[in-house]
Amino acid sequence: MEYIVRPETKVNARYYDVVVCGGGTAGVFAAIAAARNGAKTALIESKGYVGGIAAEGGCGLHSFYNLWKAFPGVEKRMVVRGIPEEMVQRLTQANGASGHNETVLRYEYDSDTLCVDVEIYKFVVLQMLREAGVHVMLNTMAVDTLVSGQRVEGVITESHQGCEAVMGKVFIDATGYGDLSARAGAPYTEPNDYTVANSMGIGGIDIDKYYSFLKDNGALTEYACGPRGGRSNQIIRVDGDWSKISDELERKVQELGMHTVTTTLHDNYFMFIKLNYMMPKTPTDRDALADAEYELRRRQQEALKLLRQTVPGAENAFIARTAPTITIRRARCIECEYDISNEEVVNGKHFNDEIYSYGFHDYAPRIQIKNGGTYGLPYRAIQVKDLENLFAVGMMITSDHNAHMSTRNTVSCMAMGQAAGTAAALCADSGITNVRDLPYGILHDALVMSNVWFDQEHL
Ligand SMILES: Cc1cc2nc3c(=O)[nH]c(=O)nc-3n(C[C@H](O)[C@H](O)[C@H](O)COP(=O)(O)OP(=O)(O)OC[C@H]3O[C@@H](n4cnc5c(N)ncnc54)[C@H](O)[C@@H]3O)c2cc1C
Repeated sequence: MEYIVRPETKVNARYYDVVVCGGGTAGVFAAIAAARNGAKTALIESKGYVGGIAAEGGCGLHSFYNLWKAFPGVEKRMVVRGIPEEMVQRLTQANGASGHNETVLRYEYDSDTLCVDVEIYKFVVLQMLREAGVHVMLNTMAVDTLVSGQRVEGVITESHQGCEAVMGKVFIDATGYGDLSARAGAPYTEPNDYTVANSMGIGGIDIDKYYSFLKDNGALTEYACGPRGGRSNQIIRVDGDWSKISDELERKVQELGMHTVTTTLHDNYFMFIKLNYMMPKTPTDRDALADAEYELRRRQQEALKLLRQTVPGAENAFIARTAPTITIRRARCIECEYDISNEEVVNGKHFNDEIYSYGFHDYAPRIQIKNGGTYGLPYRAIQVKDLENLFAVGMMITSDHNAHMSTRNTVSCMAMGQAAGTAAALCADSGITNVRDLPYGILHDALVMSNVWFDQEHL
């Protein structure tokens, strides 16, 4: 490829204690935690709203609890608390979440169902960031880093007002893609081991009819009940095995990479129907990503036709919402000081520097945390290798695919964000230049003070 040398330019500089790049699932909790712990905090987000995949891609924010129903006699424990649970309460009060509901069918996969209205989610989380005093830079892309030795000094951003340098003491990469870490020179791999997706909201479709259709065909595999359309004890989550209806339907669903599980808070609306696609290259490849964007929008049109033809009551269904861009399950995997293995996850290993406990595995019931228990994520697992003042949070950590199927889950990413933001603020406040030097006891106490729950019996 040909190249040019970009001329050096003078840019405006802004100074902060903590700079969080990426206002998605993990990043918003990092920024709120940093600001609440007294740090002057900036949050850089390329889109015009916050929330990331929690607001645009996934299925719900289930798994705040251990998998108690799958293990008779196991105590039901709320594992993830802190700011993520505070958000659930705020969201529920704003009619933007169902609250926590017990899953009726397929509880051995996930005993807890929490449905979210993604538009209210975007608003409530932004409100929480503003209340905490975070400088939220929306429509702002982090495009480069300023690195000196093993320290990140600043992030170069582009927005409609031009190029700026956002300088800081401690940085948190919450971009999902690992853009900040990669540009700062951190070691990473790109496993390309998941499909990418675009999830759509479908209007003009009836979840009760969908439930009956699956049930009557002996195809119902999953459901949960909760508030919907202003009434309690309604169906809010449903899935089925379409192969039980016909082989032809199953073939079409497979061809489209269609995940038929849906959740909703509203009558006549499915919040998520996901279409998946396995990219031939990693999602950091711009042109391959553009092809995938096209392919998924094509699949959405086909999936809508299929729903209209197949599901009673969906004859006039329409696409009410799509994710603005592709959503990914992983792009870069950033090397950190510790890399948790699936063996540690499933055996419920706890660490003497852990930053939260977690109890859900996305391959359940095939792979579960032993005895319905929990494991811990160590502080070292978010410290980016070779860089003194950079944390990585969210889907970009954990190289072991099976372990990643737990650490990357929405609620785990949120807890990780809170821990990183708290640690970053404590380092900035006490002049600690290498995040590895923060005494663990101080971090643990600050997290406990913020209602983070640790599985005490293991500490
Ligand atoms: C289709 C799909 C379904 C899923 N379903 C579930 C599920 O049901 N349950 C579950 O627990 N988990 C699920 N997951 C996994 C989970 O949603 C993700 O692992 C998690 O949300 C990742 O959070 P994150 O903060 O790392 O990334 P994101 O939420 O993607 O946040 C990254 C943010 O950074 C911003 N950004 C990126 N680059 C830049 C840049 N250079 N400058 C500024 N901003 C930038 C993005 O716009 C985004 O807001 C699913 C994932 C996908 C893709």
